[in-house]
Amino acid sequence: MRQWLKLRGEPTYRAQQILAGVYRSGILSFEALTNVPRSLRLALAGEFYLPEAVVEGVSAAADGTRKLLLRFGDGVAVESVIIADPPRLTLCISSQAGCGMGCRFCATARLGLRRNLRGAEIVAEVLAARRILEPEERLTNIVFMGMGEPLANYENLVEAIEVLTANWGLGFSPRRITVSTVGLLPQMERLVRETSVQLAVSLTAATDKLRSELMPVNRRFPLDALLDVCRRLPLPQRRRVTFEYVLLAGINDDLEEARRLASRLRGVRAKVNLIPFNPFPGAAYQRPTEETVRRFQQELLQCGVPTTVRRSRGLDVQAACGQLALGMHAVPEGAAQ
Ligand code: SF4
Repeated sequence: MRQWLKLRGEPTYRAQQILAGVYRSGILSFEALTNVPRSLRLALAGEFYLPEAVVEGVSAAADGTRKLLLRFGDGVAVESVIIADPPRLTLCISSQAGCGMGCRFCATARLGLRRNLRGAEIVAEVLAARRILEPEERLTNIVFMGMGEPLANYENLVEAIEVLTANWGLGFSPRRITVSTVGLLPQMERLVRETSVQLAVSLTAATDKLRSELMPVNRRFPLDALLDVCRRLPLPQRRRVTFEYVLLAGINDDLEEARRLASRLRGVRAKVNLIPFNPFPGAAYQRPTEETVRRFQQELLQCGVPTTVRRSRGLDVQAACGQLALGMHAVPEGAAQ
């Protein structure tokens, strides 16, 4: 922005005013930049545009979770979720419209991949969510756990992270941003080298046979290779990789599986986040009982693996993990493009 201003013979301090207007105030048109001259506003409008994520709907769950339906200029829609867990207020955002990864326990997979979101559109999701917050609310954390595989859209993801964390942008600490991946290895290594955000890896099975069934990506990047990379990641001291494990009743939730998981994670600075399956119509799986979840967690803890259980939020409005499907909740299994 400074370079662009310089080329036009404008003072470079205007960059700060313009970026503060775009990111801090969240203006939707350069016309709203009333602190810069009109000629400059017109020039900005002639050369840049501000992608808007239009909030088309907000579904509020009984537990305070809010699911947003957001639409971009070309008609493509995504969902984001605001999760209040005081003192945290987390925004779960999408990196792609739909998803091409085909995880069997996820409603988004059934949509197939529509397209990647651009960096500015990912940022626009955050700006849109901010617009619907109550005056006393402030987002504290951002997680890339909505629709899409963020690392399959690497360049746009990193561009968005730069804006989300920059002082001239939205100013989030990278430690408060988590990127969740199914394990695209080359991009995982790059992300850890190039940013300081937190990494979460969706594991969900402790054998290649089962993981390949549940997550087709495992055929490309099998468990040994994935965990090898995780062992070698240049993580800052005291940082751990979070492994997400979706618990599916009768599929991957017995104690044998917990012990297998613990033994596979040996040598990895790991913590496990268990996600009891969140059902959606037409899903082939069921949620395990609370007792099963508790015993699975206990077993991992006994094996020395720090383990937490993710509370399901927004279940009643299909806003919980794995349920985002643009309201297309009854798409028959196998209908993914
Ligand atoms: S779990 Fe994530 S990566 Fe897998 S299909 Fe769903 S959105 Fe895509």
